[in-house]
Amino acid sequence: DTPEAASGPAARVRVRDLVVRFGATTAVDHLDLDLEPGSFTALLGPSGCGKSTTLGVLAGLQHPDAGTVTVDDRSVLESPPEQRPVGLVLQKPLLFPHLDVARNIGFGLRMAGVPRSRERAEVADMVQRVRLEGLGPRRPHELSGGQEQRVALARALLRRPRVLLLDEPFSQLDPELRVEMRTLVRRLHDELGVTTLFVTHDREEAVDVADRVVLLDRGRVVGGGTPEEVYTRPATLATARYFGPVNEIAGRVADGRFWSVDGTVSVPTGTPAGPGVLVVRPESLQLAGGAVGPVAAANDVQVAVKEVRFAGTHLVVEAALADGTALRAHLPVGSPVVPGTSTRLVLPPDRCHVLGGER
Ligand code: ATP
Repeated sequence: DTPEAASGPAARVRVRDLVVRFGATTAVDHLDLDLEPGSFTALLGPSGCGKSTTLGVLAGLQHPDAGTVTVDDRSVLESPPEQRPVGLVLQKPLLFPHLDVARNIGFGLRMAGVPRSRERAEVADMVQRVRLEGLGPRRPHELSGGQEQRVALARALLRRPRVLLLDEPFSQLDPELRVEMRTLVRRLHDELGVTTLFVTHDREEAVDVADRVVLLDRGRVVGGGTPEEVYTRPATLATARYFGPVNEIAGRVADGRFWSVDGTVSVPTGTPAGPGVLVVRPESLQLAGGAVGPVAAANDVQVAVKEVRFAGTHLVVEAALADGTALRAHLPVGSPVVPGTSTRLVLPPDRCHVLGGER
């Protein structure tokens, strides 16, 4: 295998019916996953849901009990890790302590028998891309955590993989550096056009960096979509809840409208008739009488204000509908809301989303 064999346009990855068991534990449970060519997907989910195991299968470090994995319609399961067109960056970079930065980065090319002059040129290019200029002669112990991850990233990208797998690569870095590093990864993805799968348990990070997020739970995909979809129009309640606080109002859909159980909340919806749950984020709610358009203003509801907390950038208002359903609103600081009184809150229809089925 040569680097040329591993390079080329971005790849389409298909995982079908993947199962991985460790004794009695089913780590991955009939998982399906599609990565479009050149896409940037974040894989999210609670600890132990199977994220790392799934990446391990793609990278060739873990053999599945069942299922298929194809890159551009060719199975990769029979190929050893080094022959897959895949680059992997782990939480803890495994650098060779006795090699300097440049030699660590060039390692894969050297193993593939690439001439020294070409290795030097490609390493120099990659050192620049990951912003490690001047650090080539250093040893790993002379690097910061962020610099070490840049070396790991450069090494993974040097052989121009068609799929880049990142397993919580920045979780040990401090918050500001994390933001800088994910911006770097996103830029490298855009420049090199590599299909990217990024494992994280940080929702904000996922939504910030990815085009698409996939939510795993107990080895299965339980939700996903674009960041905007999972936030505003989630396909499942599990997804809605995972991406931050959300109001849930039970009711029914009839004649193209959702009606809450108590009949006070009504919004137009394309969801089929039957039981339904309206989901709306606290920050989407507005105080009636404010600067809202005529359609939204018609969509307001009487609530009892229970509690008001100052949260720095906004007020957190805990309120309740007539039937006791809790409603939380994030309102601008200074909004005239007083605990123990009632007020009217607007539910802008374009921020409301109705899911079919019982709560
Ligand atoms: P985290 O966010 O904590 O890294 P994860 O979503 O990456 O978790 P995995 O590491 O894929 O989860 O683990 C999935 C399940 O498989 C867990 O229950 C874990 O304990 C189990 N597991 C993973 N690797 C092994 C192994 N080598 N032997 C036995 N069980 C394992």
